[in-house]
Amino acid sequence: MNKKSGMAVKDKNRKGYFGEFGGQFVPETLMTPLHELESSYIKLIKNRRFIAELEEMLGSFAGRPTPLYLAKNLTALCKGAKIYLKREDLTHTGAHKINNAIGQALLAKHMGKTRIIAETGAGQHGVATAAVSAAMGLECTVYMGTVDMERQKPNVQRMQLLGATVTAVNNGSKTLKDAINEAIRDWVTNVKTSHYLIGSVLGPHPYPVMVRNFQRVIGVEARAQVLKKEKRLPDYLVAAIGGGSNSIGLFHEFLNDRKVKMVGVEAGGLGTKTGKHAARFAGGSPGILHGTLSYVLQDRSGQITETYSMAAGLDYPSIGPEHAWLHQTGRVEYTSVTDKEALHAFKLLSAKEGIIPAFESAHALAYGMKLASRQPKGRIVIINLSGRGDKDLLTNIDK
Ligand SMILES: *Cc1c(COP(=O)(O)O)cnc(C)c1O
Repeated sequence: MNKKSGMAVKDKNRKGYFGEFGGQFVPETLMTPLHELESSYIKLIKNRRFIAELEEMLGSFAGRPTPLYLAKNLTALCKGAKIYLKREDLTHTGAHKINNAIGQALLAKHMGKTRIIAETGAGQHGVATAAVSAAMGLECTVYMGTVDMERQKPNVQRMQLLGATVTAVNNGSKTLKDAINEAIRDWVTNVKTSHYLIGSVLGPHPYPVMVRNFQRVIGVEARAQVLKKEKRLPDYLVAAIGGGSNSIGLFHEFLNDRKVKMVGVEAGGLGTKTGKHAARFAGGSPGILHGTLSYVLQDRSGQITETYSMAAGLDYPSIGPEHAWLHQTGRVEYTSVTDKEALHAFKLLSAKEGIIPAFESAHALAYGMKLASRQPKGRIVIINLSGRGDKDLLTNIDK
C-alpha cells in the first residue's frame, strides 16, 4: 500500500509523468508528431462517434466483454483462496493486445493516417495490429527481431496472411528492443502518413497513458463481474508484466480500492541471480529507453543488458513508467517467477482446467496459485489470463 497517498496519481504539474518517471525523451523531429498525437487523442476520446466506433469494434470484432471464470479445479488444488481468471485469451487474435490495437488504429484513421507501423516481440501485438489494420483498410508494417521470428513462427505466418509486411530485424539481441528501434526509425521517416502503434504502456508520452486507457476495459469489466458474482471486491489481482499493459489494464480501475492488493509478475527466466531474466525491479535501475524514464536493466555505464525469458512477450529490458511509479509508491507489489515455475503452471492449467495459457500468462498463474494456496478459503484472487498458448506449442516444453 502506498504510504504517501494510497493511490497512483499522475503528477499534475508535469504532464506525461508518473512521479519522476515517464516523459518524452525523443529527438526534436518527434516532438511535433507526439503533440499532434496527444491533442488528437484528447479530442477524439471525448467524441461520441469515436467512442461508439471503439465500442462496436471491441464488442463485435474483439469479442468483449471477456468472461471472468471461476477456476474450480485450480481452486480445489490450491486449497485456499478462490481463483478467478479474467479471460483475455478469448479475445480475437488471442490476447489482450487487440484492445489497444483497435483503439490506436481507430485513432490513426481519424487522424487521416493511411499506414500503421508496429513492433512485436511475442508476435501477439503484431497479429492484433495486422488484423485490425486489415479490418480498417490500413497498410501495415511490423518489425520483429529474428530471434522472436524463429520462436514465434505461427504468428509470423498469421501476420503475413493478414496482409502485413513483416520486416526482420537482425540487430542487437534481435528481439523486441531492437524491433522498437527500427519502428521508431521508420516513424521518423514516414510520420506524415504513418502512425506508430506501440504495443504496450511504453515509449514517450502520450503512449503510456493512451495505451493504459485503451486497456482499462479489462479492469472495468472485471470489477463489475466480480461484484456481480461475489458481491464484493477481490483481495488480490495478479498479472504478468512485459511492458505492463495487461497488468495496468486490470489494475487501474481498482487503484482507489485500498483493500485490493495487486501483484505484478516479471519474468525470472533462469533465476534473478543468474543474470538471465527480465526482472526490471529486481535487477534494474532508473534509466531512459525508447523515450521514457523508467526502470531499465543496464550495466554500470548505462548500456542496456540482454534479457532472457522463455516468454517472448516478457523479454524486454524496461517497464512502463507508471509501474515504476506504482513500485516506488508501494501501491503494487512486484515479484518474479522463473521459466520452470511458469512452465509448470502452463501444463497444470491445461490439464486441470482445459485452458492452454500463453507462456506470459503462465507467469501470473504460477504466482497466483502460490498466493492462493497461502490464503484462507473465502478470499478471492483474480489472475489476468492475458493470452492463449497456441503460439507457444512449437517450443520444447518437455524440459
Ligand atoms: C505481450 C503480452 C504480454 C506482456 O505485455 P504487457 O504489455 O505487459 O501486457 C503478456 N501476455 C501476453 C499473452 C502477451 O501477448
